[in-house]
Amino acid sequence: MMTMFMAPMIQTAKVSGATTVLDAIGNTPLLDLSEFAHQRGVSEDVTLYAKAEWCNPGGSVKARAALAIVEEAERTGKLSADKILIDSSSGNTAIAYALIGALKGYRVHLVMPANVSAERKALVKVYGATLIESDPLEGSDGAIRKVRALVAADPDRYFYADQYNNPANWKAHYRTTGPEIWAQTDGQLTHFVAGLGTTGTFMGIGRYLKEQNPDVELVGVQPEDELSVIEGLKHLETAIVPGIYDERLVDRHLPIGPESAWETTRALARQAGLFVGFSSGAAVAAAIQIAKQLDEGIVVTLLPDDGSKYVSLGIFD
Ligand code: PMP
Repeated sequence: MMTMFMAPMIQTAKVSGATTVLDAIGNTPLLDLSEFAHQRGVSEDVTLYAKAEWCNPGGSVKARAALAIVEEAERTGKLSADKILIDSSSGNTAIAYALIGALKGYRVHLVMPANVSAERKALVKVYGATLIESDPLEGSDGAIRKVRALVAADPDRYFYADQYNNPANWKAHYRTTGPEIWAQTDGQLTHFVAGLGTTGTFMGIGRYLKEQNPDVELVGVQPEDELSVIEGLKHLETAIVPGIYDERLVDRHLPIGPESAWETTRALARQAGLFVGFSSGAAVAAAIQIAKQLDEGIVVTLLPDDGSKYVSLGIFD
């Protein structure tokens, strides 16, 4: 009689405390920055909280949007193994696509302005994606124009993720970040302050919060003029306006200058133990301006990424 050789069953250990990298996206902490705010003249009856979005895999808020964009495209059949995922990004979405592409086995091509920080370029390559540089003088709009030209020349080769016009971008925040903030503040927040880039973060969270409580005031933060650069944010009056942007959702616009963003970013490191990027500094500077005008209230802002990608710019020196 022939004995069959049975290979031993190898089972991956499953423990309750472990997760996958993709499942670790979202559910970030809400940090209490009230002391930092009170030291800057904000009333003791006003609290300031900040969503720590660098805690996402890939180190930024954009992991949420990138994952939603990829999974929506998989569901609708727009993305398959024979396609190259392509998009333009000032950096964080690029890093998130590269990370997700590495995990899911997709080729990823990313168009970024040639003058984005060396760290951003390096991080995209760390995850094995291909970096295509666009004209540094044209900024993020130049990257958008370049990706559109590449896709137009060979449409079947690519899945154009198009974060500026893809509703999956804001829906990621409507489904996850918005409900997290609502739950973490026990539904008591009075103001939400966030920067506007693709505007996905603001649109998704803002829509969710307004549905829960129409009195929550939504404050949008932009660089103060066309020449002011705060990486990740757009000056919408002079930029290509994202298709997902709906200006009616912004109750109030607050322009922030780069010096104020840098000063607050440095102060956050030295006085609050938070090493964050400049758009976080801009968001906190704006949130403090809003908070100073209140006698009482709960102000929430969002810190899109940490400071490690900006070290070579020398502003922390
Ligand atoms: N800050 C940084 C550092 C970013 O990379 C981005 C993404 N462009 C934003 C803010 C703005 O986020 P959103 O694209 O969701 O508007």
